[in-house]
This record gives sequence, structure tokens and C-alpha cells, in this order.
Amino acid sequence: MTGSGQIIDGKAHAARLRADIAQAVIARASAGARAPALAVVLVGDDPASHVYVRNKTAACREAGITSIEHRRDATLPEAELLALVQQLNRDPAVDGILVQLPLPAHIDSARIISAISPDKDVDGFSPVNAGRLATGLDGFVPCTPLGCLRLLQSTLGDIAGAEAIVIGRSNIVGRPMASLLIGASATVTVAHSRSRDLPGLVRRADIVIAAVGRPEMVRGSWLKPGCTVIDVGINRVPKESGEGTRLVGDVAFAEAAEVAAHITPVPGGVGPMTIACLLENTLKAASLQ
Ligand code: NAD
Repeated sequence: MTGSGQIIDGKAHAARLRADIAQAVIARASAGARAPALAVVLVGDDPASHVYVRNKTAACREAGITSIEHRRDATLPEAELLALVQQLNRDPAVDGILVQLPLPAHIDSARIISAISPDKDVDGFSPVNAGRLATGLDGFVPCTPLGCLRLLQSTLGDIAGAEAIVIGRSNIVGRPMASLLIGASATVTVAHSRSRDLPGLVRRADIVIAAVGRPEMVRGSWLKPGCTVIDVGINRVPKESGEGTRLVGDVAFAEAAEVAAHITPVPGGVGPMTIACLLENTLKAASLQ
């Protein structure tokens, strides 16, 4: 099969998911429950983090979810951030807690993430939820890989037996993605910066998930004709004109679209699904309370 390069419209998928969540929030309210509430903690002034938090807050509002922002200076001592997380853990008016990463260098991110109550850990980054996912138990699944799985399943249906490659092994994307694919009975290869012959590994795969952070690294010539490509990468590069910048993924989109049967664009692919899955996890956290 050669590829027709059908675009997987992440924006449209995400809009449907968000509409379903908004309906569920209305149903909860008519049953007398308060709106689900997400606490978002933002430390420092990383411009990209501010944009992400603004987008997440707007999406919450639109779905009827209360979002409470806690902004702190970049100089916040780690002990004070820990105390804030513990206070949010105890607060019965808070269902989900999200600590926006990256944190300033003087703060141990792993310590902060581990302190979030597993039942409020809507990012799914805590060791408890990572362990639940790795062992096939129910828990909170990180939003980006969950969104990727949703896109794959709505495009391909059952992926049991498919050969999948995940490029990248981060705790945020690569590793949980591999666990989800194993859970869906795919045959999974995880490639990373030390892998040998990446093009050869990619060429075997029916499903390619790229989560590297290197602009247009995966070339069209690496792909098996008819495969499905999910591009997680978000990279800002200078425009050809030399003025301003544009976003590209980890996959050379135009080349890949010639070979693949289905491919996500950047922007408009995985990104919108990440936010929709955050809302879904927050609703789930509210139901657990
Ligand atoms: P990361 O830097 O934590 O991990 C990158 C991974 O890529 C590492 O495991 C590394 O081993 C691997 N890698 C690096 N160079 C490689 C190479 N030459 N060949 C093969 N593997 C290589 O990054 P991350 O947090 O997993 O994010 C990856 C990308 O996804 C970034 O562009 C990030 O901006 C993007 N991202 C997007 C979303 C979204 O919502 N769409 C969410 C999270 C991350």
C-alpha cells in the first residue's frame, strides 16, 4: 500500500472530546455536583510555559472546569513549592493538580511531582501513576501519549499486532507511549539517542511516533509505505524568508505525507489532543473525589 497522506485532524478530534467533556460537566452539575477544579502551579517566567498555561486555563473555562492558577516567582524555594503542593493535596475543593514543567533549576522536579497526591495527579507523571500504567492498572495516563493513542485508535481502529516504533524515551512522552501501545497489543520498539540505524528501525514500523525535539529529523525515505505517523515534536525554526519563526514537528511533513497513509500535522495534530486529555483527566479526578 502506498501512502495517500491523509491528515489526522487533531483539532477536530480534540473539539469533539472537549464537547463530550463539557456535556459530562453539565450532567454532573444537574446531579448537584460542583464543577471539577484544576489547580495549575506556574513557577518562573518561561514564556512557553505561560502560553501553555494560558491555553489550558482557557480550555478549562470553555468546558465548565474551574481552573485556579498559582503563580510564583522563579526564586521560590523548593520547600515553599512542596508546601503549596501539600496544601493543594489536602484541599477538598481541588480535584486535579498540575505543576507546569520545566521548573527552575534549583528545584528538584522529581521531588515535587512525587509529592502530588496520585489521585490528583492529572498529568500522570508521579511514580505511582507511572507504575500503574507500566503494570496495566487504572490510573492517570500522561496527556500527550493518551492523546496520541486516541488519534491512532480513531484512525486505525484495533492496533493489535501492529509494529510500532516510539522515537524518544522521556517520562512525559516516550515511555508512557510505549506502555500504552503494549497495552493495546502492538509490537513496540523504543528508539532513542543511542539507538543504531534509526532509519532501518523506522522502516519496519506500521506506526511511527516521533517524540524527539529535533526539527524534521524523520525523513520520508525512512518510512514504510502506508504507515501511520504521529508527530509529537514542537520545534520553532526560522522561516525560509529569514523573518520570524514557524513551528515544525520531528517529521519532515511534506516528504512523509507522500509515503504515509495517515499523518498528524504540526501544529494542529497532537497538541490540541494533549489539552483535551488534560480536561478528561480532570473530570476523572473529580469523579474519584
Ligand atoms: P525530551 O528531550 O525529554 O526527550 C527526547 C528524547 O529523544 C530522548 O529520550 C532522547 O533519547 C531522544 N533523542 C534525542 N536525540 C535523538 C536522536 N538523534 N535519535 C533518536 N532519539 C533521540 O523531550 P520530550 O519531553 O519527550 O519531548 C519531545 C518533543 O515533543 C519535543 O519537541 C517537545 O516539545 C514535544 N512535546 C509536545 C507535546 C505536545 O503536546 N504536542 C507535549 C510534550 C512534548
